[in-house]
Amino acid sequence: MSDPDKTTFPAETYRKDFPILGREIHGKPMVYLDNAASTQTPREVVDSITDIYFSHKANVHRGVHTLSQEATAMMEATREKVRRFIGASSTDEIIFTRGTTEAINLVASSYGSMLKPGDEIILTEMEHHANIVPWQLLRDRQGIEIKVVPIRSDGSLDMDAYRSLLTERTAIVSVAHVSNVLGTVNPVAEIIRLAHDAGAVAMIDGAQAVAHIPVDMKQLNADFYAFSSHKIYGPTGVGILYGRRELLDRMPPYQGGGEMISHVSFPHTTFAELPFKFEAGTPDYVGLAALHTAIDYVCRIGLDNIAAHEEELLRHTTGRLLEIPGIRIFGTAPGKSAIISFLIGSAHHYDTGLLLDKLGIEVRTGHHCAQPLMHVLGIEGTVRAAFALYNTINDCDRFIEAVRRIAPMLT
Ligand SMILES: *Cc1c(COP(=O)(O)O)cnc(C)c1O
Repeated sequence: MSDPDKTTFPAETYRKDFPILGREIHGKPMVYLDNAASTQTPREVVDSITDIYFSHKANVHRGVHTLSQEATAMMEATREKVRRFIGASSTDEIIFTRGTTEAINLVASSYGSMLKPGDEIILTEMEHHANIVPWQLLRDRQGIEIKVVPIRSDGSLDMDAYRSLLTERTAIVSVAHVSNVLGTVNPVAEIIRLAHDAGAVAMIDGAQAVAHIPVDMKQLNADFYAFSSHKIYGPTGVGILYGRRELLDRMPPYQGGGEMISHVSFPHTTFAELPFKFEAGTPDYVGLAALHTAIDYVCRIGLDNIAAHEEELLRHTTGRLLEIPGIRIFGTAPGKSAIISFLIGSAHHYDTGLLLDKLGIEVRTGHHCAQPLMHVLGIEGTVRAAFALYNTINDCDRFIEAVRRIAPMLT
């Protein structure tokens, strides 16, 4: 069978790397479109986890024995892999976390503890709860204020409003690179430049970006950048915080415990050098080592190729979806990522999701951890189809056909 995909991207071949994609749901071949929540994991990443458990497992850093040194080397190789992947200048700037959420909490707790009452933090209306609630907790502790950049009707940021919110009181600007609901790709390089001009630091939530578009710290000039392994074909439970060294050096530790110290006595404890100062306790060294394999997988295919393929899937699906009566798509900004949030008429997102599941289509429904955005849109939730490198035009057509079939039942 020839691949009907207009690009020469061999998605059908890559599908074979993901055993789960061969599953059936309610007796139908599964179409997995919940990639903005978690991407699936290729066999080689799972194999690397098995290999570590079977052949290399030992606690990292503290051991003189061979196994511990192997485990340490594997985990530290990931740090170097991530550094190169995002174009950071030093592995000292790559902090291992449990995910994007913990990375943002780290910055809010640690960098945030240096803020003064009256300092301001700028967020946007499209943020994930992970990039809202940590700052609210900080607001309650530190007496700071939160300002919010509005979005325009197509789901792009109102950059004029952003410029007018920036003042000498702005301490931090924290913005999603790509919206997990609207698909909007924010002009983060510009956002960061304007933040710096105002004397603020900029944190970027890259959870929805790194698996879909090339990201480079030197080009962006971000102060902090966070992402999660499970959204880039890697294992669950691990993530990355990139931080600019001058800032990380000045910041107090986030959590205390083993690994993050240099010397401990009851009167006084000194802390480890970067990046270990921010890594208390035994990390998920198995997951971190396997993240290396996931990044290799993505790099072998190439983010430019992935981006072009997903753009084709987005274009194909959006056009046909809009032909179905009653469809409303939320987020139509130019250059958006391959995420389609929609509603059918006045149908409840949950009912739509349930019926799609019966037809083998796995989509997410609800507020997508972005309740303030739902409030702005005047809705309670959406149905969200989010595409990944292994989705095919056939997946898109199955999805469109399913929506076409259920729409009359719901409206
Ligand atoms: C998924 C997501 C998060 C949270 O990631 P976790 O892996 O749950 O920590 C934050 N921001 C955005 C934009 C996301 O899509």
